[in-house]
Amino acid sequence: MELRRTKKGTLAVLAACAAGAFAPARAAESSALLWPAKLRPAVSSNFCEYRDGHLHAGLDIRTFGEEGIACVAGDTGYVSRVRASAEGYGKALYVQLDTGLTLVYAHLAEFAPEIEAAVDEEQTRRGRYTIDVRFPPSRFPVQRGDVIGYSGMTGANAPHLHFEVRNAQEHPLDPLAAGIRAEDALSPAFGRVAFLPLEPGAWGPFAHRSAERAPGSYEVCDTLVLSGATGVAVEVVDFLNGESGRLAPSEITLAVDGRPVARVALDSFSFAHADEVDFVYEPASVRVNNDYFFQLYDRRGATLCIAILPTAGAWLRARARRARCTRGA
Ligand SMILES: [Zn+2]
Repeated sequence: MELRRTKKGTLAVLAACAAGAFAPARAAESSALLWPAKLRPAVSSNFCEYRDGHLHAGLDIRTFGEEGIACVAGDTGYVSRVRASAEGYGKALYVQLDTGLTLVYAHLAEFAPEIEAAVDEEQTRRGRYTIDVRFPPSRFPVQRGDVIGYSGMTGANAPHLHFEVRNAQEHPLDPLAAGIRAEDALSPAFGRVAFLPLEPGAWGPFAHRSAERAPGSYEVCDTLVLSGATGVAVEVVDFLNGESGRLAPSEITLAVDGRPVARVALDSFSFAHADEVDFVYEPASVRVNNDYFFQLYDRRGATLCIAILPTAGAWLRARARRARCTRGA
């Protein structure tokens, strides 16, 4: 997308997807992990999508309405933890890999038989269904591809596999940038661009629709009149392929006259900061209209965990003036 603010100033917003042509170097850096379910790869939700009060911490993998799909260890390691609960992650299993990453499989119908037996025993011993048990490396070692459980919908509304990749600090990572391979035939697409007042008296148009003028290049063709400190927010959706849901991009960059001034990197976060969802997404639009605008500014005035803002002034400051879009590259 490119739009012209004055005859000299140009704003550009770029979006990237984790597994697509925009990020080949990062994908190549990671050693591949096996797709976690014995099904063709299809994703209904991805990393850092909006959830009420938190960011989505992994992939929701389609099981096409079915339960009982075999789930496999993505690489060599051991089953380090299992949880059973009637809500939340439901029946969940953690595989600690030799590489230091942890894979999390949630909403399972069943664990592999020997693990299921250990869980049954623990539930009986404690006299309750809800448990959270950790195992030493020697108890349930796994090889790459071993079946560790079967998909279900425990703690969920519909059958699917919720899958996470976490680092040694237990921070969730974008699985598509951390070794999970999926065909990504489609680039992120821009929707509307919004300008939000960030100080008393500031004003500007809320949302302008952008149009794709060339593959991957979008323009807002309208006169923009802004006053005061104004933040830029953009609608961006990504798809992996025809079977994926509307996904979040992995990265959005805002540049002024070719110089990056803000970058939102959706590749990892800390669970302690998952409530920063309301700083990543413009909260009023979500709650009122179910629209998802990514905020390319730091509304709280401090560096967020999730968003890397290389300059302090990622806001636009404009006096009321006419600005007209031109056909950019
Ligand atoms: Zn999920």
